[in-house]
Amino acid sequence: MDPVRVIADPRIVIGDGTAPRLPRTRSDHPMSDLETFLSRAAEILGAEHVIAYGDGDGYVDPYPLHTGRPPAAGVRPGSVEEVQAIVRLANETGTPLWTFSRGKNLGYGGSSPRLPEQVVVDLSRMNRIHEVDPELAYAVVEPGVTFFNLFDHIQENGLPLFVSVPALGWGSVLGNALDRGYGMSPYGDHVQQLCGLEVVLPDGSLMRTGMWALEDSPLSNIFKGGFGPNVDQLFTQSGLGIVVRAGIWLMPWPETFVSGDITVDRVEDLPELIDRIADLRRREVFQNNCLVGNVVRAAIMRGRRKDFYEGEGTIPDERVEEMKEEMGIGHWNARFALYGDAGMIRERLRIIEEAFDLPGFTVKSRVYEGRDGAPVSYDDIPEIDKTTMAGVPTLKPLETIGWYAEDGGHIDIAPLVPARGAEVLDFYSEVKELYTKHGFDLYIGYHVYARHLVHVTMIFFENGNEEQLARARALYSEVREAAARRGYTPYRGHIDNMDEIAAEFSFNDHAALRFQERLKDALDPNGILSPGKQGVWPARFRDER
Ligand SMILES: Cc1cc2nc3c(=O)[nH]c(=O)nc-3n(C[C@H](O)[C@H](O)[C@H](O)COP(=O)(O)OP(=O)(O)OC[C@H]3O[C@@H](n4cnc5c(N)ncnc54)[C@H](O)[C@@H]3O)c2cc1C
Repeated sequence: MDPVRVIADPRIVIGDGTAPRLPRTRSDHPMSDLETFLSRAAEILGAEHVIAYGDGDGYVDPYPLHTGRPPAAGVRPGSVEEVQAIVRLANETGTPLWTFSRGKNLGYGGSSPRLPEQVVVDLSRMNRIHEVDPELAYAVVEPGVTFFNLFDHIQENGLPLFVSVPALGWGSVLGNALDRGYGMSPYGDHVQQLCGLEVVLPDGSLMRTGMWALEDSPLSNIFKGGFGPNVDQLFTQSGLGIVVRAGIWLMPWPETFVSGDITVDRVEDLPELIDRIADLRRREVFQNNCLVGNVVRAAIMRGRRKDFYEGEGTIPDERVEEMKEEMGIGHWNARFALYGDAGMIRERLRIIEEAFDLPGFTVKSRVYEGRDGAPVSYDDIPEIDKTTMAGVPTLKPLETIGWYAEDGGHIDIAPLVPARGAEVLDFYSEVKELYTKHGFDLYIGYHVYARHLVHVTMIFFENGNEEQLARARALYSEVREAAARRGYTPYRGHIDNMDEIAAEFSFNDHAALRFQERLKDALDPNGILSPGKQGVWPARFRDER
């Protein structure tokens, strides 16, 4: 079979009026010679590394909120030189590309590009770990390296290092950081751990950032500044380059590990919980971002909806109260961890226990110290605490998407909210009303940092269930509107919603977006790399936005 099959008009067909408006190519002025691109890409990469349009193996959003998007075509370069050759070819043929590292961007569009005519650059074959420095605690990796890969490498080589992992371990260490994803450890704000990027620019040339721009310097991946403006952030949530290698800082392996829980019995005590967590995080008593979940979240992590409730609509409050009792948890359940010297940990625990010595609050912790004077090891930590907070990658949370049905999906709504307790409770109440109105169960997982929290509210649904999907779309829009009215916006966005989120940044007639567009046009005049990423369209697509 010829793997390079191009369907004549791979344009999107969107199902209903609420679907996102996407720029369309003009049939009288074809922007891209896709057939030529794909056949020449096959010569560069080998036909087995070119995936055709409409092919069942193509790139899709596994949890589509809108139906009708066909699988996209893709190319799978295996080296920096191949990425460069593909980018140059795209410039010649006018082919828009869309980059990902592993494409596990579930809840945000998965491996699907924004436009069906964009050809995916799938970097998963570039999976080499170039360097791990156990002394200064960093690694240099390619985009295809997953959290599982890096964790296994460190364990197999007995290195005294700790990898910060997000909920699912199959994602890319670099892809997650470049899209500003997060993990649960002190190094959990992953984008902050990037140090030195190697980037293929839109013209196919290669650049290194920061100290890595020096030839053969030992400073390459240990100091973030270069000489002059630091441009690393230009390549995060961005279509200005393809990152083909990067340095990532790792945490030194802790001597002692603590897994802790704070439970809060009453819903209305949320402000006290948030205020105290954020305060202790600002004072660096808490070292990681505490994760605060509600009863529904606890149920979703434990089983299917039918195990808890079989009725229509939102699970009623009375049943939630019973579920709380049955699971022996609080209305709010905060998880935290502590890392490091045993003496310092004891002091941190004392401060935490004092801070939450309040009616209806309970603090429990399990301390794991190493044996015979050695630091703690994974063998010392029982299964129950081998969690993401302990740096253990897993796929277990993937089961949550089966809440309503075997073939489940979800979309993330994750606005950033100031870490002010009363404000958080107020927004929670509004969001709860909206979930009730549209008949969904409200999952809450707050990731609490020093000054803000990420208000993770997932909408779970059954794939292809049109009635439920229509409600999910309405709920999504209304929660987004409620957030926007308060000046809150998501920390990252689904491919269908990038334009509307970008539009919210409207100060001085969208000066920030216009600046990004000027950068885009200057660096990528042919509009090749990830057009539309975060709502930034190059000139040739802009008029049709
Ligand atoms: C149940 C569940 C739980 C989840 N929990 C978390 C969580 O705890 N934390 C979290 O962060 N996410 C979470 N997610 C979302 C998602 O699964 C992860 O963020 C995942 O790591 C993203 O996929 P990836 O790493 O393969 O990134 P990719 O899909 O490879 O990349 C994401 C985006 O980053 C950009 N990008 C990637 N690589 C490059 C590159 N080399 N050059 C330029 N741009 C690039 C692209 O725009 C790309 O679309 C969760 C999802 C589910 C379903």
